[in-house]
Amino acid sequence: MTPRGWALLALAGLTVALVVLAALLIPWHRPPAPRADQLAALGDLPAEQVAKGREFRAALRPGGYAALAVGLLIALALGLTPLGSRLVELVGRPFGGHWVAQAVLGGLAVMLVADLVTLPFAAWRQSVLTRYGLSTNGWSGWAVDLLKSYAVSAVIGAVALFGFYAVIRLAPRWWWAFGAAGAAVLVVLLSFVLPVLVEPVFNRFTPMEQGPLRTELMSMAARDGVPVRDVLVADASRRTRAVNAYVSGLGPTRRVVVYDTLLREATPAEVTAVVAHELGHAKDSDVAVGTLTGALGAAAAVVALYLLGSWGPLLRLAGVDSVAQPAAFPLLVALVTVAGLVAAPVQALMSRRVEARADAHALALTNDPESFESMQRRLGSVNLGDPDPPRWEYLYSASHPSTVERMAAARAYAREAGR
Ligand SMILES: [Zn+2]
Repeated sequence: MTPRGWALLALAGLTVALVVLAALLIPWHRPPAPRADQLAALGDLPAEQVAKGREFRAALRPGGYAALAVGLLIALALGLTPLGSRLVELVGRPFGGHWVAQAVLGGLAVMLVADLVTLPFAAWRQSVLTRYGLSTNGWSGWAVDLLKSYAVSAVIGAVALFGFYAVIRLAPRWWWAFGAAGAAVLVVLLSFVLPVLVEPVFNRFTPMEQGPLRTELMSMAARDGVPVRDVLVADASRRTRAVNAYVSGLGPTRRVVVYDTLLREATPAEVTAVVAHELGHAKDSDVAVGTLTGALGAAAAVVALYLLGSWGPLLRLAGVDSVAQPAAFPLLVALVTVAGLVAAPVQALMSRRVEARADAHALALTNDPESFESMQRRLGSVNLGDPDPPRWEYLYSASHPSTVERMAAARAYAREAGR
């Protein structure tokens, strides 16, 4: 069998593995959040809060979708015309067109162009956040964060680009197999390492101070049988008023992180409800499952790019001879961008199902649907969410159930528990 035949087989195998994993590990059954309860919850929210959330979301929308559209257009313009390959060659020219310069500097240049073109939309978004009082870090803080995130992606991008094109040179016929394995390993590594290495670049973390809340959270985690090493507080208030909490890392690096804004805004019972939700993620190994599906997806993407990349018309559009040359990187970016936009609603759906399961876990663990519901109200109000967003937007991009869905889930739980 030819390398191409093996690649087809590998892609089929990876696709089957992904579908089976998703079928088995994503809680597809619909969580109990009846629409009648949702509408009742919506009616109970202060009209002013609903109006403000909707106004804020509407203010963000034009810039958000324009950024998506412009990002797609620039990716297509660089990848499906010779413009991108010329840019890569141009950047490599001072170095005699050496492949390392083309691969690393050329690749980073392509990424930088995409970042710069969407920069005005990012700035515009920041101005909306500031106008609505959600952002607290000012323009200089925003610029510093932006430069930090450029630096982080440049370092990761340079390593990945060098590794990818080095493998292609070392194994010209089988690079897709090594590339797929490498991409999968990179996803796993980033999931382990990123929280530990990158989060401190943006936030300072301190262990939550001793007291009744910390004691309650640690004993709840123990009761839940979830090994959580620590509860950390992030100094998120430096840049935002938004409240949040999350679980990050796997195994020994796993910790629950609570924004300091959450501690300031919410009652201890509400903080407990949020942490119970995060414990649900830990208990169901949502990070591990997400990492595994991400790794398989990345491997499948590399194989698919290899197969698509032998298609003549595509190569002619990009003005390259082979997908294996660094000048074809913009073509790969274009294909990945399109794939990302197509995959977004599927990812959002899986994320919402997983989030609904963590909500159900929180309700069962705390048996306190009142605090859970008041926390959802508070989350929605502080983060200026639309409690019942437009259906199309919800289906395309919502990573969490809506505020009214989550309130309705709490009401359904309370009813079932006979409270
Ligand atoms: Zn969650």
